[in-house]
Amino acid sequence: MTAEQAKTHEALFSERAAGIKQSAVRDVFELSLDPSLVSLAGGNPYLQLLPLEKIGQIAQRIIVEQGPVALQYGSGLGTEELRAQILEVMAAEGITNVGFDDVVVTNGSQSAQDMACKVFCDPGDTVLCEDPTYVGALNTFEAYQVTARPVGTDENGLIPAALRERIAELRAAGERIKFLYTIPNFNNPSGITLAAERRQEIVDICREEGILILEDNPYGMLRYEGEAAPTLRSLDAENVIYMGSFSKIFAPGLRIGWAAVPTHLFRRFYLAGEAVALCPPTLNQMIISSYLEEHDWKGQVAKYNELYRSRRDAMLAALAKYLPAGITHTHPAGGFFIWLTLPEGIDTYELLQEGVKAGVIFIPGAAFSPSGEASNKLRLAFCSVDEDTITEGVRRLSLLLQQALAS
Ligand code: PMP
Repeated sequence: MTAEQAKTHEALFSERAAGIKQSAVRDVFELSLDPSLVSLAGGNPYLQLLPLEKIGQIAQRIIVEQGPVALQYGSGLGTEELRAQILEVMAAEGITNVGFDDVVVTNGSQSAQDMACKVFCDPGDTVLCEDPTYVGALNTFEAYQVTARPVGTDENGLIPAALRERIAELRAAGERIKFLYTIPNFNNPSGITLAAERRQEIVDICREEGILILEDNPYGMLRYEGEAAPTLRSLDAENVIYMGSFSKIFAPGLRIGWAAVPTHLFRRFYLAGEAVALCPPTLNQMIISSYLEEHDWKGQVAKYNELYRSRRDAMLAALAKYLPAGITHTHPAGGFFIWLTLPEGIDTYELLQEGVKAGVIFIPGAAFSPSGEASNKLRLAFCSVDEDTITEGVRRLSLLLQQALAS
């Protein structure tokens, strides 16, 4: 390919493609494959804890006994068996106001975000979100040429009054707000949870203002302390699209998630997914169905929680022990992540380059920030490495931070 030809092709890119970029998380993912580095970067669940032998037997049995079905195209809605089981999984989180016909199985919850944008957003539209928020969602918004506008938060999540003000301000400026995208439980990257007493008000504001809620809840069951607050969906079946996932409670490589969609919006929503992927993978859905049926999946979640709780505690203890003064961090009650705030002026992208040399990596904060104002912040993940490694990683990071603060 000559430079001339490449240029010709570049001119063919859509405007939309200009916004498509590799996420910072994927960039760092490549680095994390170096075994001499301690990676506090990846939010990968610790799958070694799964009953792998059993899952292998399930997969083999399904292929041998039901291969022509398992390896065939399936319904764009997902299999009936899994959709029915998803109702039980949601019920385990206290969500009982979803009907069978309101559930569509998706290729991970990532694709449910894409479907929502496709159905609701035109280029130039606005969506509201937390700051920081999930980088994968920000990338989807960008790909649909949608502007993500942050709403004020504190250590208890979205602030209802700030939401009201933001809506008024953006509307006064002529912006068309389509939905609030929120991760109410154990936000990725901040680890923050929306306080129970704020939830009804957030739901009420969005309903009154005619703004949908996209509730992204992949970590809800990974709770290490305290009582679960009601999901937004359980407070409003008509204005909340709920996105769930098997990625964190089972295995992300199967790429199976789901959306529970208000009845009147359902048809368009699922047809948008069908147009992209035809159907979610049949074999993987069948594996999950058998796993849910034959394995104590709630016991498995409890095992995960025990492991992640001790890893979280190890990270909090190491931060308390090693972190220099002047740096604050969140105290997540669940999920995978802790969010550090450094003094203004320390750029965590630059710090990451030093971290690679010093043998510790993390994700710089800016990628998660719709306002771009998180260059002095960073995300640590405690889910995928053991306690000693976490402690060593935090020690290395703290040495780096001491140097950065001194210079
Ligand atoms: N939402 C959030 C908040 C996430 O952290 C992730 C995965 N890291 C996803 C969605 C995507 O999950 P899935 O594997 O179901 O596509």
